[in-house]
Amino acid sequence: MTPPLRDLYGLTREEVFALVVSWGFSPVHAARLWNYLYWELVDRFDAMAEVPPKVRVRLVAETRLGVLPTALATDSNDGFTRKFLLTLPDQRQIETVLMRFTGRVTACVSTQAGCAMGCVFCATGQMGFTRHLTAGEIVAQMVHVARALRRAGESRLRNIVLMGMGEPLHNYDATMRALVIARDSSGLSLGAERITLSTVGVIPGILRLAKENQPLHLAVSLHAATQAERLALVPAAKAWPLDELMDACRTYSESTGRRIFYEWTLIEGKNDSADHAHAVGRLLQGLSAQVNLIPLNPTQGYGGSPGKTEEAKTFQRILGEVYGLPSTVRQRRGIDIAAGCGQLAASVR
Ligand code: SAH
Ligand code: SF4
Repeated sequence: MTPPLRDLYGLTREEVFALVVSWGFSPVHAARLWNYLYWELVDRFDAMAEVPPKVRVRLVAETRLGVLPTALATDSNDGFTRKFLLTLPDQRQIETVLMRFTGRVTACVSTQAGCAMGCVFCATGQMGFTRHLTAGEIVAQMVHVARALRRAGESRLRNIVLMGMGEPLHNYDATMRALVIARDSSGLSLGAERITLSTVGVIPGILRLAKENQPLHLAVSLHAATQAERLALVPAAKAWPLDELMDACRTYSESTGRRIFYEWTLIEGKNDSADHAHAVGRLLQGLSAQVNLIPLNPTQGYGGSPGKTEEAKTFQRILGEVYGLPSTVRQRRGIDIAAGCGQLAASVR
């Protein structure tokens, strides 16, 4: 049986060099190859004119350039958001979003096809879990966005949020490998300060991030300040209860010295009252924390409403004035093309 072709986007720079050298070629060719992958952002071997034909023949025979073809690209009416439906090698599809908010260009990247966590208000959760993405498939999404920006003559990709489809800490190894590749200073060169990983609250993953001191920002999706209320929205709270989650967050902040972002999807009548604001204020008081309020985005399988802007303002004021907690309200962009938080639901079967 012939071994499967190795996906080049799944290899670190050291591994690309080791591979090319193991074939008996000079590291100079490996350097050129790496350059084509992440500086030139080429999408086919043919375009690697400076990689000698004998090396290219070997590349074609033993590796593949894991470019993910675009099945569909949709622009939001305001022009700030572009959603890509990308096709994986097994024909499953995932979504990746390019966002241009307040002068920053950010790629919102998926880590799984579907998601096993089942949060009731999330379109990805509503579709269930199909499979983990490989590191190469995660990197390929970043390259895809970088290439789209290059073609449009826009600025380089600088910010990554792991907030697309899936739970990154349920696919820990592939996600961390993808970030090593993305941070490589002679590659996509994404700064650790500009990478945010969002988790539903997978406690073992949070503790591992802390232990390994992974260079990224951590966002934890909270949505409720009591175990009972959280369980009604986030089934994963059964396995990872709120009090244990908060202990893990404390451990993370203490050992890394980093502030955690806590995400709170505002759902009218469920978690958006002044009482709720006080409850989250008390829960987070004394922690190094910032709250990101996300007005609920509409999804097919959940009937809730985002509530009114004034409600969000009051919530924010209580957090700030009573508890000294900084917070932001996420801009509602891209929801006309179902590219807002929690709206990603490609056809994955
Ligand atoms: N699985 C990770 C990351 C992907 S979801 C996590 O859950 O954190 C990114 C963020 O969008 C999470 O905070 C999630 O709770 C939120 N979200 C999901 N569905 C949403 C919706 N319909 N409206 C607003 N935010 C939503
Ligand atoms: Fe999965 Fe995050 Fe959606 Fe929950 S909110 S179902 S963890 S993608």
